[in-house]
Amino acid sequence: MIDSLGRNITYLRLSVTELCNLRCRYCMPEEGVCKLAHSQMLTEEEMIRAVRAAASLGINKVRITGGEPLIKPNILSICRNVSGVPGILETSITTNAILLPDMAVSLREAGVQRVNISLDTLNPEKYRKITRRGELENALRGAKAALNAGFEKVKINAVLIGGFNDDEIPALAALTQKWPVDVRFIELMPMAGNTDFGPECYIPVNKVLESLPEAVPEQEEGVARLYRLPGALGRVGLISPLSQHFCAACNRIRLTADGKIKPCLHSAEEISMKGLSEAEMMEKMRFAILSKPACHGTLNAQSRSQAARSMNQIGG
Ligand code: SAM
Ligand code: SF4
Repeated sequence: MIDSLGRNITYLRLSVTELCNLRCRYCMPEEGVCKLAHSQMLTEEEMIRAVRAAASLGINKVRITGGEPLIKPNILSICRNVSGVPGILETSITTNAILLPDMAVSLREAGVQRVNISLDTLNPEKYRKITRRGELENALRGAKAALNAGFEKVKINAVLIGGFNDDEIPALAALTQKWPVDVRFIELMPMAGNTDFGPECYIPVNKVLESLPEAVPEQEEGVARLYRLPGALGRVGLISPLSQHFCAACNRIRLTADGKIKPCLHSAEEISMKGLSEAEMMEKMRFAILSKPACHGTLNAQSRSQAARSMNQIGG
């Protein structure tokens, strides 16, 4: 469906849980989140109904996210049902990969075509520090399991944090020379409740190019500017929600695990879908798409996201 600014909205990010087995410092408070009552969360049936409603408005791509989608007990069934909705041409998932070693093949069989893996560092100590509890070895085993499971595409996403992992740009980018993956660097976003990171942490992704003088530009794809290192099997991507936002080309809406449609990641507007019929959901989604703002405005350490939720409660 075309929104009021002429953007074609074809992409739904479906969050299936707010909970996570890690506690990344830029995403989630250390103590986790207050578990909402079961009755406040979307049931699987409601999620699939929402995807059907979205598909009837022209959404053809769904990314399943969270929180950590792989801790959801019925995740395989959700993936199977989402990918089976008529009109959904692409089903993908975003994960921290910790549980992928045992689940990659089943996810592929459940219709998941693409996997994005979040990995900000290749140093075990730093991995423990940024995730507050994760073991790098498990995430790397997950990444390898994804590469062996026959997905159409595997991408690695690293949040670029000044003073934390900007010294690892060459090492992270070199994964594209070892594995057939795209490695995408994403600017750290200043979510409302997260003030752990000072202004020095918010660095533009162009810094990546300074560290990779040998990178050659390739055709842009979606929100990422793409480059290739000599002999690489995959590409290096730059995603710049702060330094060069892509709101004019935004093609997505989000559905949170507690059933709120968010027309924009960084706005406080939310439209509830809980308990609605498919026809009612479709009307609410149409309204949400038409109320997508032109732009999220300036974001930086001082001027924070207007979204009244942390990233794990939205679905990044
Ligand atoms: N748990 C899964 C994972 O980590 O891949 C999926 C959910 S997580 C919220 C989705 C993505 O959001 C991750 O790649 C994470 O790095 C990113 N993210 C979370 N908070 C962020 C922030 N403040 N700025 C930029 N990216 C963020
Ligand atoms: Fe969990 Fe993903 Fe947030 Fe990290 S970024 S705390 S893995 S939801």
